[in-house]
Amino acid sequence: MSQASSSASVHVRAPGKINVYLGVGGRHDDGYHALATVFQAVSLYEDVIARPAADFSLVVRGVDDPSTVPLDDRNLAMRAAKLLAAAADFDGGVALEIRKSVPVAGGMGGGSADAAAALVACDALWGTGLSTARLHELAARLGADVPFALHGGTAVGTGRGDRLNPALARGRFEWVLVTSDEGLSTPAVYGRLDALREEDGALADDPPLSLDVPIPVLQALRSGDAGDLASSLHNDLQTAAVHERPDLERTIEHGIRAGALHGIVSGSGPTVALLCAGPENAQDVQSALREAGLDPLHVHGPVPGARIVG
Ligand code: ATP
Repeated sequence: MSQASSSASVHVRAPGKINVYLGVGGRHDDGYHALATVFQAVSLYEDVIARPAADFSLVVRGVDDPSTVPLDDRNLAMRAAKLLAAAADFDGGVALEIRKSVPVAGGMGGGSADAAAALVACDALWGTGLSTARLHELAARLGADVPFALHGGTAVGTGRGDRLNPALARGRFEWVLVTSDEGLSTPAVYGRLDALREEDGALADDPPLSLDVPIPVLQALRSGDAGDLASSLHNDLQTAAVHERPDLERTIEHGIRAGALHGIVSGSGPTVALLCAGPENAQDVQSALREAGLDPLHVHGPVPGARIVG
């Protein structure tokens, strides 16, 4: 395929995610952990704009500290564009612009959302004609959370989190997110979980015997009842994340005192997700946390995965 298929710019929006349930198995020889998780895509978005270009380039906007996001081939969006070009035999390039809203290293899959958005944007820009199944295959090669950022909605993830099955979720759930200025390294949090499990089973959750999402989680999603979902929120990484950042536990307690139904560390943290009974309750929780000097955002889920805008 040649550059001649390039056309005008393409703007794609992809959501960040919350893991409403995250069960982590033992560490495999390849360093990965088996997971059983339920992702929910929420209304905090990454925007990626792809413009025709002869070479590959990337600019990132919306981050306070630009040094936290690589601009070279370590950037997941850049890797996505180059992987797609190779798969489609496209010999041109692309100028990518990322407008970030999802906190960097926040446990909300912002980099994965950028990768999914770059795949969809470059696919449209270059007119590759690849099938959706092939795009999902490329997404899984880029990272375990990338297929979900393409898919969106609410889904069960197994394997490394990359084997997806849609979960039936009725209605809309209201969340208040409390972000942190400083991110947490995902490998460091998994490493801490391994160490805690080795040291003393009482300090961390034991590796689950069977890695299935518990039925009550799926029932709560199906009923659309926020109270039911609140009682089944669970994250095996939370103990390890709190070990690194004890303030996260206090933030969850603060959110509950402010009226949230329950709270959880999102993925590997440090973003805290507080589930609320409805929009008004979420606004009250947000105001109370803002008064306490925190940085809360009101979002809802589920929302669709990476989509072309306009
Ligand atoms: P993970 O997906 O590893 O759980 P996360 O959701 O906590 O991570 P991300 O914002 O996706 O956090 O980024 C984790 C790290 O990946 C960053 O610290 C950064 O070095 C690197 N990275 C690569 N590409 C991107 C990108 N497009 N946006 C942000 N970070 C990126």
